[in-house]
Amino acid sequence: MAQRISQHMKKILLPILSIIALATASAQPVKIHGHLKVQGTRLLDEHNQPVALHGMSLGWSCFHPRFYTAGTVDWLYRDWNCSVLRAAMGVEPKGGYIDDPTRSKELVTSVVEAAIKDGIYVIIDWHSHHINLEQAKSFFAEMAAKYGKHPNIIYELYNEPAGPTWPEVKAYSEAVIKVIRKIDPDNLILVGCPRWDQEIEQPAADPIKGYSNLMYTMHFYAGTHKKWLRDRTDSAISAGLPVFISESAGMEASGNGPIDYKEWQLYIDWINKNNLSWITWSVSDKNETCSVLQPSAGSDGHWKDADLKESGARTREYLKAYPPVDKPQPTATAETVREPATAETLRQPATAETLRAPALTKNSYHPPTDHK
Ligand code: MG
Repeated sequence: MAQRISQHMKKILLPILSIIALATASAQPVKIHGHLKVQGTRLLDEHNQPVALHGMSLGWSCFHPRFYTAGTVDWLYRDWNCSVLRAAMGVEPKGGYIDDPTRSKELVTSVVEAAIKDGIYVIIDWHSHHINLEQAKSFFAEMAAKYGKHPNIIYELYNEPAGPTWPEVKAYSEAVIKVIRKIDPDNLILVGCPRWDQEIEQPAADPIKGYSNLMYTMHFYAGTHKKWLRDRTDSAISAGLPVFISESAGMEASGNGPIDYKEWQLYIDWINKNNLSWITWSVSDKNETCSVLQPSAGSDGHWKDADLKESGARTREYLKAYPPVDKPQPTATAETVREPATAETLRQPATAETLRAPALTKNSYHPPTDHK
């Protein structure tokens, strides 16, 4: 009888054990790379190997809270091959941090907790266009105390400075860094630069001193920002500035208008040549070119091709093209096994249809002047 039970148990246990083995064999990016650090202009992993992170930014937390879920995080990791996600916590708009700090922190922490569980990197992004120093200090102190021990966490202090000069952004950043570093001595911190993160030459000429593991953010929208921004960034890197592209996309800087596939490809080629980290804006379903999802997309992932907009299909294709070092093994459920790319998802040539610019909306998430 005991033998029969034992054989019976074996029959049940073996498949379970093999599933567990498969799941634990998953190449979670944080398991592979661990704590990140900056050396010169390069991002290194804890084994001193150069590393570049690739992934998606969620949309503004206050406008698109329905995607701040564990299901969305898990899908972006497993199906889109993201090694990093960015939680873009709105600060100034209604429903953002200043208006509703409790709700804003709940949204961010739900994404952070899910990213830790999945073993991917996650950026806690203070998604603001203006300086709100005291609120930022208080928020980042709380985040550093809660998450500073996790190698997954990256802090982004100021999404896109719109008006302030570099000395003002620098002073703000130094004040916030000081608060974080008292609590968390080592996790990567991203620093913005003037004019929506395009004046990267300014921190290159006058970088923050006295702290380690800082990188500076450059944002591009390929339909507006052409070779001049790549050249400017090359110069900044040559001058010794470590650069991280924490937001980017293929259309105009308003987030709308047609996708410039040719220029976007030039950016991707340049990024890969320089082994830079990059993130695409954004996981949301607004009627604009840069929102990667259709309103039909569920809040918990499992999106079909029909749920992706043009920018989403192309971004997913770009992300999935990276080598398996960042790639999870498929787990045993049918839903999480990646579908192979089809001819349709691989090629989206610009047509008269795709080139037509959708109408700009007045309350576009990024006012049209935001990324000039
Ligand atoms: Mg730490």
